[in-house]
Amino acid sequence: MSGAARIEVIDVVVSLAQFEDKDSWLKIAGRKLKCHPSSIEEVRLIKQSIDARKSPVKMQLRLEVGVCMPLPPEEEVTKWKFTAEPVTDESPRAIIVGAGPCGLFAALELLQLGIKPIILERGKDASSRRFDLAPIMREGRVIEESNYCFGEGGAGTFSDGKLYTRAKKRGSVALIYQILVAHGAPENILTEAHPHIGSNLLPKVVMAIRESIRAQGGEVHFGQKVVDFVLKSQNNGQQRCTGVKTQLRADAKEEDYANGQTHEELYLWEADSVILATGHSARDIYYLLNDKGVALEKKSFAMGVRIEHPQAFIDKLQYHLKSDEKRSSVLPASRYSLATKLDNRGIHSFCMCPGGFVVPAATENDEVVVNGMSLSRRDSYFANSGMVVTVLPEDTTPYGDGPDDVLAGIKMQKQVERNASIAGGGKQKAPAQRLVDFMEGKVSETLPKTSYFPGLTSCDLNELITTKISGLLKEGFKKFNQQMRGYICEDALLIGFETRTSSPVKIPRDPITLEHPEVRGLYPAGEGAGFAGGIISAAMDGINIAHKIN
Ligand SMILES: Cc1cc2nc3c(=O)[nH]c(=O)nc-3n(C[C@H](O)[C@H](O)[C@H](O)COP(=O)(O)OP(=O)(O)OC[C@H]3O[C@@H](n4cnc5c(N)ncnc54)[C@H](O)[C@@H]3O)c2cc1C
Repeated sequence: MSGAARIEVIDVVVSLAQFEDKDSWLKIAGRKLKCHPSSIEEVRLIKQSIDARKSPVKMQLRLEVGVCMPLPPEEEVTKWKFTAEPVTDESPRAIIVGAGPCGLFAALELLQLGIKPIILERGKDASSRRFDLAPIMREGRVIEESNYCFGEGGAGTFSDGKLYTRAKKRGSVALIYQILVAHGAPENILTEAHPHIGSNLLPKVVMAIRESIRAQGGEVHFGQKVVDFVLKSQNNGQQRCTGVKTQLRADAKEEDYANGQTHEELYLWEADSVILATGHSARDIYYLLNDKGVALEKKSFAMGVRIEHPQAFIDKLQYHLKSDEKRSSVLPASRYSLATKLDNRGIHSFCMCPGGFVVPAATENDEVVVNGMSLSRRDSYFANSGMVVTVLPEDTTPYGDGPDDVLAGIKMQKQVERNASIAGGGKQKAPAQRLVDFMEGKVSETLPKTSYFPGLTSCDLNELITTKISGLLKEGFKKFNQQMRGYICEDALLIGFETRTSSPVKIPRDPITLEHPEVRGLYPAGEGAGFAGGIISAAMDGINIAHKIN
């Protein structure tokens, strides 16, 4: 019985062969809906995810099915566009400090609301920035204003580009995907359960977003480092932020200059609202705010190592492959997510990059910081992941100037990053150890192959971090080895250190107005303020902040 013409949404689990054979989806849908396949006019994929809990690996599909009727035309997601008129110089304006995901999405939303955004970014545009990554990789030389963290698109541009978040209640993830697709991201991010873009495509997407912002009347200026905030005292005892001052980079392009701006003098940008979206690596901003007496708070963060395995080995564990069996071409490089709690602290994998590379993500030359990225194909020989432990505010006290030092967490990060730099031997060489040797506290005689380009130095990582962190990491690894049998193996390599998982400082904000509670007109936003962790949640925070600007 086919029944009445209707549209149904069904969830089915199919084999990999069925997944590849799209014609078989009609039969599968018919079976599920108890109707003859001939009555199924059309089937459309809404969401797909891999079910690798047991062997053989299967695919879970959510399908939209037209029974005795065609499906309505697909939403024209690639046609996302502004619904407002372009802004002009007469429109209300807001300054955005930082062109990361938070700043860029805040700008798009301000434009939808008829407000002119003026983005000030210390780094270079994504295309020029690409050339500044070569000295880090080849010579171990960090260009301090243009690197893996600073520049157009922020820390998200040369990343793995994972686009999932646990912060789904804070806003529309679907809207962010649609905006990304409209700016050149692949359409499959709309249907995959764990979408990612990859570092080869991300720069094009962020540059297209910048062009949209400019075309709609917004301004984006690169090479403009904010070095001061203009704070005015008000009668009610509060302060108001009325603008910022920038220092122009020596090599800024002419198009990035403001009218009459020179290299010698700081330039004043005025506006009633300043969105501060500087990310968690802009330590100078925390120091500046602290010096100006703007309240900051300590917060928990996480710190640990990056672990690298051969991707084929992880595939074997995750996809239940026999020793000589290769991953099916239908399946992507496998991922994992590991978490446990010990001693009231989380130990967890962080930013796992299948088929990726470990990269030097430092912002200064006297430090080593590692992180992970991948290309859209995720086809490198390696799988890597952060493996980090919660650091509580009280753990940071010994690193600060007294118990009330809100910057103690930053100082702890910096100390560990310096330790890594010294132990590595400089020029971004990182300290490293086989996991099996880390567990026993002995220096590895040899190190396995790695994707980390600047090079590795064999060290006992236990000696470079606190005993609390190394002890908890070891306990965590033992647990994870039970969950993924063989995870602790000769080829598993630890690289030090993963210090910048999130900000150790929170810039507080009023829960209703989202302004700093003591500084009206200053809107702390994104990861640097402690309100986001990752590309999507930072973008969402930017959108939410935009709605508070008037
Ligand atoms: C290598 C790497 C890989 C990553 N992979 C992923 C991933 O796969 N998925 C994911 O969700 N997240 C990933 N992340 C994290 C993600 O990139 C961040 O969570 C996200 O970019 C935070 O967005 P944001 O806009 O708040 O800050 P940021 O992206 O840090 O942007 C802040 C911007 O502000 C600018 N800025 C700082 N100070 C000043 C100043 N004084 N004046 C002017 N401009 C300033 C910076 O140059 C920067 O462009 C990765 C990060 C790195 C480093």
